[in-house]
Amino acid sequence: MQHTILRPISSHELELEPDHKLGIHSGRDVPLTFFPAPVGTGIEFVRTDKDIEGRNPVIKAKIENVADTTLCTQIVNADGVGVGTIEHLMAAIVALGIDNMRIHVGGPEVPIMDGSSLRFIEMLDRAGIEAQDAPRKAIKIIKPVQVESKGRIAILKPSSETIYSTEIDFEDSLIGHQHFEMVLTADNFREELAAARTFGYVEDVEMLQKMGKAMGATPNNAVAVKRSDKTIVSPEGLRYKGNEEFVRHKMLDAVGDLALWGAPIVGTYYGYKAGHEMHALLLKELAQKPDCWIEIDLDGAGLLKTLPQAADVVSSRVTA
Ligand SMILES: [Zn+2]
Repeated sequence: MQHTILRPISSHELELEPDHKLGIHSGRDVPLTFFPAPVGTGIEFVRTDKDIEGRNPVIKAKIENVADTTLCTQIVNADGVGVGTIEHLMAAIVALGIDNMRIHVGGPEVPIMDGSSLRFIEMLDRAGIEAQDAPRKAIKIIKPVQVESKGRIAILKPSSETIYSTEIDFEDSLIGHQHFEMVLTADNFREELAAARTFGYVEDVEMLQKMGKAMGATPNNAVAVKRSDKTIVSPEGLRYKGNEEFVRHKMLDAVGDLALWGAPIVGTYYGYKAGHEMHALLLKELAQKPDCWIEIDLDGAGLLKTLPQAADVVSSRVTA
């Protein structure tokens, strides 16, 4: 079965701190509303602040629309209208098993919230999830697909479940070398990944802001790391044990980026120092190698087994 949300939900319904409503790069206050969508829609963004020939432009969350992967993942439609920093929202959507949804966004970027997927999960939970009368298609990896560039690697290989394995290697000892692996289910995403925040070096943010980027970044919506003295500037400190918030966030990004395939992927993802750019390359390679995957009906297998749990959580909230 495919799934959508039960009712619309707006970011206005959440109590958000002022810097959580901003696009992290644009610094603009961006309203966000999710709407249910019919079978076969997929995930699409609607720029409510733009008008092209009397219509708000639509940008499909698909790999062919990926335009820029420098600091976040940005998608752009044929009219050149785009939306950026979609990855933390896309991760929440795919992890909760939602296939069809329309996202109204009132600016060039999804709001950063607290830098993680937590508030998007909260919005989806409040909206509730609804099953739709249509089979859910996925792809199953049957032969490995790999991309490599400048010492970075991203791979998809065959496995019976959807597994994520992420390795990072930073020069400074505070982040350093980290490896994290887990089976992607809705429950695992909620418990192990959803709260992991984006991070950046204070020194880099100062440089980016001189170029007009990271204009909305604060130590309250990203983990701010001071490279010079290896300290965490953010008042909250770190979430998760053993400084693992960093590697877990990189995995969260991978889940969101791979959601742009447009259907769940059954297989094992492995990334070494892989970011948005490598993930876009990986999906493009996958598209060019149709002998490496088959289309499957996901009902009764793979990711779907997590859905009853997600749906239970939702229906208990709806009836409460
Ligand atoms: Zn991220």
